[in-house]
Amino acid sequence: MVAYDPDNIFAKILRDEIPSERVYEDHEFIAFRDVAPAAPTHVLLIPRGEAPTGPEALTDADAAMLGRMTVAATRIARDLGLEEGGYRLVLNNGAEAGQTVFHLHMHILGGGPMGHVA
Ligand code: AMP
Repeated sequence: MVAYDPDNIFAKILRDEIPSERVYEDHEFIAFRDVAPAAPTHVLLIPRGEAPTGPEALTDADAAMLGRMTVAATRIARDLGLEEGGYRLVLNNGAEAGQTVFHLHMHILGGGPMGHVA
């Protein structure tokens, strides 16, 4: 498992050292548009602060946080108008899943038909 890097790109976004198009924020999470969208609407939801590096770093202590993160994602999807057409929530873990940033993040994808992945 990789160690948390406080200079990862999402930590810099949280500190406003890198610009982002934020679509949601509360005391625990922020959400912003992905720079390389894989769907017509593609938003990333991340916890504030030093987050688990990814799914494999989650422990039982993170269970409630991940639950709140998932509920926040559904609220964001609704606010972005994705509920009627449907949307996908994705957590990538590791190289073969294409994980490139090691600060826990949930992809919110929608706005058009998506291929079947599972
Ligand atoms: P993952 O591949 O699951 O690690 O997701 C990382 C995501 O971060 C990718 O979809 C990238 O397009 C996105 N990304 C990388 N840099 C930025 C940035 N500066 N602003 C917004 N999204 C970014």
